[in-house]
Amino acid sequence: MNGKAYSAKYWVISTGSSPAPPRVQSLNAIEYITNKEIFSLERLPGTLIVLGAGPIAVEMAQAFNRLGAKVIVIQRSGQILSKEDRDMADTVMEVLREEGVEIVLNTNIIDAQQHNNEKSITVEDRDGNRSTYTGDTVLLAQGRTPNTSGLGLENIGVAMTPGGITVDNRLRTSHKHIFAPGDVNGSFQFTHAAGYEGGVVITNAVFHLPRKADYTLMPWCTYTDPELASIGINEKKARQEGIDYSVWTEEFNGNDRALAEGSTTGKIKMLLNDREKVIGVQIAGPRAGDLLGEWVAVLGGGVKLSTLAGTVHPYPTLAEINKRVAGTFLSTKIFSDRVKKGLKLFFQLKGPVREPCTKIDGH
Ligand SMILES: Cc1cc2nc3c(=O)[nH]c(=O)nc-3n(C[C@H](O)[C@H](O)[C@H](O)COP(=O)(O)OP(=O)(O)OC[C@H]3O[C@@H](n4cnc5c(N)ncnc54)[C@H](O)[C@@H]3O)c2cc1C
Repeated sequence: MNGKAYSAKYWVISTGSSPAPPRVQSLNAIEYITNKEIFSLERLPGTLIVLGAGPIAVEMAQAFNRLGAKVIVIQRSGQILSKEDRDMADTVMEVLREEGVEIVLNTNIIDAQQHNNEKSITVEDRDGNRSTYTGDTVLLAQGRTPNTSGLGLENIGVAMTPGGITVDNRLRTSHKHIFAPGDVNGSFQFTHAAGYEGGVVITNAVFHLPRKADYTLMPWCTYTDPELASIGINEKKARQEGIDYSVWTEEFNGNDRALAEGSTTGKIKMLLNDREKVIGVQIAGPRAGDLLGEWVAVLGGGVKLSTLAGTVHPYPTLAEINKRVAGTFLSTKIFSDRVKKGLKLFFQLKGPVREPCTKIDGH
């Protein structure tokens, strides 16, 4: 800095990330914006073409559609929010489509052109059919790239990939005295993940205690309406990792607060492993991010499902859906075949039910 050299025993690189550059060369021939420019546009786009369908892309697509722009989302894979389970992501996609957002899936961008202010994006689907979409504004939202250039890290041999600076589970780079928390390491690109990783670095570098980062219970939320929040293992990941699981769901249309607020779209999905332990929860619905808080306690704090099911939640609240999905699972235990047989025997021993009491004194 200003030609001055600084030296230190430990270094922390936390330079964050930037929008990833275009994957298709022809996009360089047109003017596009990224999340950096979108918040300072001077006028509402007539037609906004969003390239990508990750969290930033879908949040912006819904917001600009609601502001009155025509919005077209172009996505390479077969679903939006591709990290999420298909059914949960589709819940959000259906709402966006109902609101008027055009979402084009399974397409590759093959060309981009600009004539005056009008930009055209040509795509090809999996059957080779081509379509061209035109608009006055193109938002590039096809991932993030770590901010590593210009730091001279290559000169000192800090290991990196295009995804970020390589770190171990104590967030140390290939030089053990240099740490790299946050987006720059490319693992979980969230504000709360960067904060957590910062704490891990402090423990290691300042207190010299060997603390490891553990992402098993890293929650996240996409702030569309409905929101889509997630913690732990979803079905996609469970299948990838060969984990046996069962799924328990409750719909928001059975929740009185959601009914009263007219926000009944969505559901909660709880995954249990073969030992009936909660391994993940996803919520697509109103204030899903806040509702996930109780599950952070269940998964991270060891709160038992029976404890959650046995709590009293104020009525009418959206959080009743948490208690209810826990209760739905536990009721299958309470009314298992063994318990049913036991109850049958108990009532047989107790004898037949007597006639109900008749009213006394005419009351
Ligand atoms: C549009 C958008 C919406 C988002 N929404 C959410 C959300 O709702 N929830 C959530 O959890 N996360 C969200 N994120 C992600 C979140 O912003 C990041 O994960 C988080 O900011 C990462 O923190 P960081 O400290 O690693 O990097 P940053 O917060 O980016 O900080 C990096 C800092 O380093 C500085 N810097 C960069 N290069 C240099 C250099 N060469 N020398 C010196 N300083 C440098 C930068 O100026 C910056 O101050 C969003 C991101 C975007 C782009």
